[in-house]
Amino acid sequence: MEQDHETVDRVPSRRVRVYGREFDADTYAVRDFLSRSVVQFDWVPLRDDDQAMTVTGVRLDDARLPIVTFPDGTRLVAPALRDIADRLGWIHAARRSEYDLSIYGAGPAGLSAAVYAASEGLNVVLLERDAVGGQAGSSSLIENYLGFPEGVPGAELAERAREQAIRFGAELLVMREGVRGVFHDNRIHADLADGGHVVARANICATGVAWRRLGLPREDELLGCGVYYGAGTGEADGCVGEQVFVVGGANSAGQAAMNLARSAAHVTMLVRGASLAATMSEYLSSRIAAAPNISVETGTRVTGLLGDTRLAAIEVTDGRDSASERPASRLFICIGGEPDTNWAAETPMVRDRLGYLVTGPDLDDVPGSLTQWAPTRRPFYLETSVPGSFAAGDVRAGSVKRVAAAVGEGAMAVTFVHRHLATSD
Ligand SMILES: Cc1cc2nc3c(=O)[nH]c(=O)nc-3n(C[C@H](O)[C@H](O)[C@H](O)COP(=O)(O)OP(=O)(O)OC[C@H]3O[C@@H](n4cnc5c(N)ncnc54)[C@H](O)[C@@H]3O)c2cc1C
Repeated sequence: MEQDHETVDRVPSRRVRVYGREFDADTYAVRDFLSRSVVQFDWVPLRDDDQAMTVTGVRLDDARLPIVTFPDGTRLVAPALRDIADRLGWIHAARRSEYDLSIYGAGPAGLSAAVYAASEGLNVVLLERDAVGGQAGSSSLIENYLGFPEGVPGAELAERAREQAIRFGAELLVMREGVRGVFHDNRIHADLADGGHVVARANICATGVAWRRLGLPREDELLGCGVYYGAGTGEADGCVGEQVFVVGGANSAGQAAMNLARSAAHVTMLVRGASLAATMSEYLSSRIAAAPNISVETGTRVTGLLGDTRLAAIEVTDGRDSASERPASRLFICIGGEPDTNWAAETPMVRDRLGYLVTGPDLDDVPGSLTQWAPTRRPFYLETSVPGSFAAGDVRAGSVKRVAAAVGEGAMAVTFVHRHLATSD
């Protein structure tokens, strides 16, 4: 998808082209967004002033970097991701004043719900605050999803699902974040971060989880400058000959290690637990054990990040609390995620102590959870403590954190949406 394009090319490219500093958070955000959105693009790393001036007309320290050019000759200077999405023709206003169903989050659960809802004749709008695909979109190769014996890159799976949802008539609004929901008149009235407003008779919250951080000093500063959350699918090609580190012991960390080992000289996995067995699928841990250039250090934690403008070293602390400094050009943090459901605090929606949305029979275990529940029926299986408001996928308390489970819950939630709509006006 991404090509390293080093030669100066004065002929406008037929593809999107990104010019920027190699270790730069803004440039990384642009490349990561384009990769996850399955946009074919050329990447032109700028390594010194002469090259930067020749290729772009600005110096390496210029605030106008990164520069993104488009096949029609348009040039965006230091663009926000929304500007890029807009230029690609992805930003639209909502077509309706009211929908049967609004879905928040276009990861596997939201995409699946959109496909089933639209194919079954509901007016459905799918809102995504970032790139389509969610966590799955950042996976280099999903190997355990039914029907793909050779595995499928997560971004490709998401792109297929996006096409399928659109083909059935679902409306997709990207770069739109739901920030507040109010429930009245048997409807959800949602406010969006950009000032928009969406009304629907039912809704599915499929907002998944966001990357958990290490919580170390300098983590924000070094993000995109040697520190990355997730598998860094677009970064593997840049790691040729490097010693890189992956933190985490679950499947996402295992995939990251396998992907990076294709180009890096050596990948070290830093795992807090005593082994990979409890946290990683067997097929993946055996491949890691067999890979000649991957080593696994258990009982270890990253306790420091060092470097001026980019990561140079990490501090690793072992089980006996002994800390050592290790040279590191890149660190990939894959330590799971946490739900971003603070908006629900202003609603009667019940969350567990970690912020996951509680649904269906699980609400019975939470004293007082249904004090504001009006219908005579009990909540449906994936329904929250607000009638007509459902949760599917990773954001739901007790969900299985897998693509197949999210896809299944998205589809299942639509069945309950039909039942809810049949009894409400
Ligand atoms: C690197 C990696 C590799 C993985 N590999 C595998 C694998 O091989 N097999 C497997 O089964 N599982 C795998 N998983 C787990 C799997 O990807 C997740 O379980 C799955 O993506 C969950 O889907 P979801 O739709 O519930 O949530 P997510 O995928 O988290 O999607 C949620 C979406 O909601 C959006 N969103 C959040 N808040 C808002 C808001 N307020 N408004 C609008 N949009 C919002 C987010 O931007 C995101 O796009 C992997 C995960 C990772 C990170």
